[in-house]
Parts: sequence; structure tokens; C-alpha cells
Amino acid sequence: MRFNRIWTLLGAGAMSAALITPQPSAAEPYPADAAPTTPVPTTPLPTTPAPTTPVPTTSAPATPGPVASEPVPVDPKPVDCSAVKCVALTFDDGPSTYTPKLLTMLEQHHARATFFVVGYNTSRFPKALSRMVRDGFEIGTHTQSHPDLRRLSPSRIRAQLRGPIDDILAAGQPAVTLFRPPYGATNAKVTKIAKELGLAQILWSVDPWDWAVHNSRIVADRILSHVGRGSIVLVHDIHPTTVAAMPKVIKTLQKRGYHLVTVSELLGPELKAGRKYFRQ
Ligand SMILES: [Zn+2]
Repeated sequence: MRFNRIWTLLGAGAMSAALITPQPSAAEPYPADAAPTTPVPTTPLPTTPAPTTPVPTTSAPATPGPVASEPVPVDPKPVDCSAVKCVALTFDDGPSTYTPKLLTMLEQHHARATFFVVGYNTSRFPKALSRMVRDGFEIGTHTQSHPDLRRLSPSRIRAQLRGPIDDILAAGQPAVTLFRPPYGATNAKVTKIAKELGLAQILWSVDPWDWAVHNSRIVADRILSHVGRGSIVLVHDIHPTTVAAMPKVIKTLQKRGYHLVTVSELLGPELKAGRKYFRQ
């Protein structure tokens, strides 16, 4: 992906400094324009215009993969995250050819998760999207084509936020109330439009930089060494190495007593449109 190449150029120093940083609680709004784990704000943004055509997300074939085996339903019992330890795994930039395998894996472990999808992939993988809704996962918008929204006009921001929403509704989710800004890049202009559209801004507190390392062991180790009660973990279901890291992550977290839940379960029903959330 183009932004991956850009970040690769930043070098190891920037990467290690930005890997995991302490996060404010949800009650302490992050400084304006600051992304939680700073992949973007402390470094120059791309100088070329935002892409106007779909960006290929992986080198995988454009056709969906084989149909996954029959899913095991996730635990239908609601979880009260004010009473028990919870973590929310969130998967960005998909769906992809690897998503059905991930869904099966999550279901086999009775784990729920949230998917922040992009419009150029929801149109390619409608079956994966429908399965997410059917099997109890949660879906939010991650825009149509993954631009830095801060650089766009209000009308283009609005169109980007709405990008995948029709596909999510068509898949059967009754409403879309969650939004993740690409690169964590948001500002007052983006926040105002998110609020208008009824979307809470979901950032994160643990980022293993899975898109940069492409190594399952490192991704799992980084998550497991930084995660805690109430964490929101950012990973991407467009990378096979990330999907392959999940069994170890899920099993270890469950052994530690964590419940793996959706963002709405973690944060509760009182999410405020426009507000930024980094963790429970
Ligand atoms: Zn993304």
C-alpha cells in the first residue's frame, strides 16, 4: 500500500518511538489532531493528492477466497465489561480474502471483534460482510478510499465517511454508529461531520504495527505485552501474518481472563457521536 511504503521510509527510530505510547483515558480527550500511536501526525503527510481510485490492499487475488467452513456461533451471552475484564480487537481496511478464515477462527474461540471496513473492499466482499452481521460481529466505517480526512473539504469528508455505510446496512446491520479515521487522523472539521452523521470516533490504545512487520510472532508478542483491561487493539485483516497471529493472541488473552468483545460492548451503550474514544 502506498502509505506503507511511506512509513517504511521513516526508519526504525520513528517506528520504535511510535510503537506503543501511554494512552489517555476516554475521559481525557486527546490533543487536537494527535493520533493515539502517532503513525501520521508527527511526520510529514504524503504530498500527492488523496487517491481517487481504489487502492489495492494486498497482493492477493481480487476474487474472494474459498468459502470458509461452517461457522461456530459466538457466545450469545452479553458481557458486562464494567464487571469483567474485556479487550476489543479491531480489524481495519478489509474485508479481504483472509477475512473468512479470521471469522472462523474468532468463532471457534467464541470471540467477538469489530471490523472497520473501507468502501472499496465492502463492494468486493459482500459475503464476508453479511457473515459478520449474521454471526454477531460489529462493523464501523473506515471511509471509502482511506484518505487523510483532514486534507479534504467538508463535502468530501461526508462522502468518505458514508462510503461503506450502504453496504453495511445492506449486509443487515441495523445502523452504523462507529467510525475510525484512517491513520487516526482527525481534527475539529472531521469531528463536526462525524457528529452530524451520528458516528463516534474509535481510536485505539494498542498498535503492534502489524502492517509494517508482517511477522505473526512479533505481532502477537507486541499485543500481548501491551494489552490490558479495556484496551482497544488495532490490527488489519488484509495481512495473512496478522490473521495467523490471532490464535495465540486470543488463547493467551482468554487464559488471562479477558473477554473478547465488540467496541460497543467494551464502551457501553452511551457512545457519543463525534467523541473520540481510545480505550474503555
Ligand atoms: Zn486503515
